[in-house]
Amino acid sequence: MGFKARAKANQPKVEEQQKKKDAKTGKETCGVNSCDGWADSTLGGRSLSVTDAEDMWGKAVVVRKNRVRVCKSCYRTWKKNNKQEDHY
Ligand SMILES: [Zn+2]
Repeated sequence: MGFKARAKANQPKVEEQQKKKDAKTGKETCGVNSCDGWADSTLGGRSLSVTDAEDMWGKAVVVRKNRVRVCKSCYRTWKKNNKQEDHY
């Protein structure tokens, strides 16, 4: 009896681990053509306005619904070049 209860308790843990693995891969690709990072919000991705993104990368971006989804590192690069907005 005790063993069965323990085996059941272990099942949710496996599912959690799989979820974490999926999150690392990501679903949303970075909108910057030269970059193959992930733009998922769970992975630190951000969305920029088309104007902001084109200021930075020109036309080499993928526009979706008037926004450009970028990965964490691309957002950092962009932020470095747009320091007028210091607050998050
Ligand atoms: Zn990127």
